[in-house]
Amino acid sequence: MKIAFIGLGNMGGGMAANLVKAGHEVRAFDLAAEALEKARGNGCETFGTVREAVQGVDAVVSMLPNGAIVKNVYSSDVIGQAPVGALFLDCSTIDVATSREVGEAATAAGYAIVDAPVSGGIAAANGGTLTFMVGGTDEAFKRAEPILAAMGKAVIHAGDSGAGQAAKICNNMLLGIHMIGTCEAFAMAQRLGLDPQKFYDISSVSSGQCWSMTSYCPVPGVGPTSPADNGYQGGFATALMLKDLKLAMEAAGTAGSQTPMGQRAKELYEAFVEAGNGGMDFSAIIKTL
Ligand code: NAD
Repeated sequence: MKIAFIGLGNMGGGMAANLVKAGHEVRAFDLAAEALEKARGNGCETFGTVREAVQGVDAVVSMLPNGAIVKNVYSSDVIGQAPVGALFLDCSTIDVATSREVGEAATAAGYAIVDAPVSGGIAAANGGTLTFMVGGTDEAFKRAEPILAAMGKAVIHAGDSGAGQAAKICNNMLLGIHMIGTCEAFAMAQRLGLDPQKFYDISSVSSGQCWSMTSYCPVPGVGPTSPADNGYQGGFATALMLKDLKLAMEAAGTAGSQTPMGQRAKELYEAFVEAGNGGMDFSAIIKTL
C-alpha cells in the first residue's frame, strides 16, 4: 500500500519504519531535516511538503504534537490533495473536539478517517508493540486495522469519531491519578518506618495494588525494572503527562464531568513541570512528596 506519513518524531519515526518493514511504500514528511534523514535510512521516501507526500496515496498517517497542528495540516495540505476515498489515520494525542472537527471536514470531502491515539512510549513505537484506541465508522475501522496492526500489538475500536481520543485521555487521567496515589503511599509508608520493599510485598497483593505500583514502581529497586531504576530517565515524560491531563480537564469541562482528582493531578504535574522537571519520567513526582 502507498502510505504518506506526517510527523517523524520520537514516536512517528519508529512507526513509519515499521510500516516499511511490513512492505508498505512510505512517503514521509516532517519539518525537521534530521527526522527526514533518519526516515530515509529506515527505507522511507521523503518529500519537501505534505502536499507532495500525499499524492497518489491509499492512506495518510499522522503523528503530530497537538490539535492545532493536526487541524492545520489536514485542512491546508491533506484534504483536497490526497486522492478522494483515501483513508486518514491520525495517531496524535489531541483534544476530542478538534479530532471530531477534522473528522467531519475529511468525511465531507469524501475521505474515510479514524482517530487512533496510542498507548505505549518510544520503545513500543520502535518495537511495533503500541496499543491503538480507534474512533471512526465500522467501515473506516476495518480499513485502518491492518495498517495499525503493522505498528502495534493491539487495535481496539472504541466507537465513533473522537472515541479513540476520549479513551486515551480518560486512561491517562486515571494513570496520572494512580501514579500520584502510589507515590504518596510509598512516601508515607517510609515516614511511618516501613521498608519500601515490605510495603510493596504487602500492597502489591492487597487492595491498593495498581499498574503504577506493580508495573512501573516509582521507588528505585522495588518491583520490576522501571524508569525509577534509571534516575527517572526515559519512560513517559512528565511534560507529556501534563499535556494529556490538560486535554482531559478541557474535555471534562466540555462534557460537564466532575473530575476533582484529575484536576488535582493536573495541578501537581503542572507545578512539577514549572520546577524544570518536564523531561523526567512522570513517576519522578515522588521526589516532591
Ligand atoms: P515529537 O515532538 O518527537 O514529534 C513530533 C514531530 O512532528 C516532530 O518531528 C516535528 O518536527 C513534527 N512536526 C511538527 N509540526 C509539523 C508539521 N506542521 N508538519 C510535519 N511535521 C511536523 O513528539 P512525539 O513524542 O513523537 O509525539 C507525537 C504525538 O504522540 C503527540 O501527540 C504525543 O502526545 C503522542 N504520544 C507520545 C508518546 C511518547 O511517549 N512520546 C506516547 C504516546 C503518545
